[in-house]
Amino acid sequence: METDHVSVNQSEKTVVSVKEEDQQATSSPLLEIEISEIATQVNVEAERVIDVQDVNFYYGAKQALFRVSVPIHRNHVTAFIGPSGCGKSTFLRTLNRMNEFVEGTRIEGNAWFGGQNIYAPTVDVISLRQRIGMVFQRPNPFSSSIFENVAYGLRVLKFPRHAIHERVEESLRGAALWDEVKDRLHKSALGLSGGQQQRLCIARAVAPRPEVILMDEPCSALDPLATLRVEELINKLREEYTIVLVTHNMQQAARVSQYTGFFLQGKLVEWGLTVDVFTHPKQKETEDYISGRFG
Ligand code: ADP
Repeated sequence: METDHVSVNQSEKTVVSVKEEDQQATSSPLLEIEISEIATQVNVEAERVIDVQDVNFYYGAKQALFRVSVPIHRNHVTAFIGPSGCGKSTFLRTLNRMNEFVEGTRIEGNAWFGGQNIYAPTVDVISLRQRIGMVFQRPNPFSSSIFENVAYGLRVLKFPRHAIHERVEESLRGAALWDEVKDRLHKSALGLSGGQQQRLCIARAVAPRPEVILMDEPCSALDPLATLRVEELINKLREEYTIVLVTHNMQQAARVSQYTGFFLQGKLVEWGLTVDVFTHPKQKETEDYISGRFG
């Protein structure tokens, strides 16, 4: 009998096997964090879609990130955890240069994406944000119709009219919202529930077909049921997109991600397979954090 448990993801590419000893450790003894089957669905051959190297980030004189280096693997979910104020959101925003909206910020280091350094002055930031989209903590739909919320970005990108309709439907389906809204597409998006609004924001983010979607605590304003639906959606989106997720919720990281990074005081203290980080953390600070000793 096969002693290894082999999980195969939907793309049916190579997926690693999880050895028996790891299977036994699928519940972290530290905080009784349940590590899901999803966390084990790792394709070790997946390419690095983004390669972050030695990034320092400053708000004025205050340094918020210290020499952060981390790979982001294609078609996987990478979660970043850590106590409040440790730099998770700042880091996420460096990946599509959203921090540039804050005056007086400065960045050093490189983040390679498609052969280009994201921080190079020659990068077209609009097209960068089309390729690396973002979903925020609070659902932030525009006050226009459900349809227009998804169509807006496509119009900005000068999509032909006929293609817009098709893409809006496809995006709403992709965000697991189509069946709930198909009869009210031209009604205000503000009439949707919080969970539906967040899935609408995800539909808006996927509409230009980005390669990477950054999600900054996407469930923190949602109730448990809406959270579950968004987590299921994140797992499904992984088939087509690469997801980088910031969450203060360690259980969520263990449920939906394949890679986890732990930030503390602006430093990426640990990064690795989610299964390893939660069961055999290498650093004492990680162990202290996931066992609830601080944070
Ligand atoms: P986290 O997402 O882990 O809660 P943040 O990235 O929001 O952490 O914050 C990291 C550090 O940067 C904190 O000390 C925070 O006060 C500071 N910071 C965040 N945003 C700004 C800003 N716009 N201006 C100045 N400092 C900021």
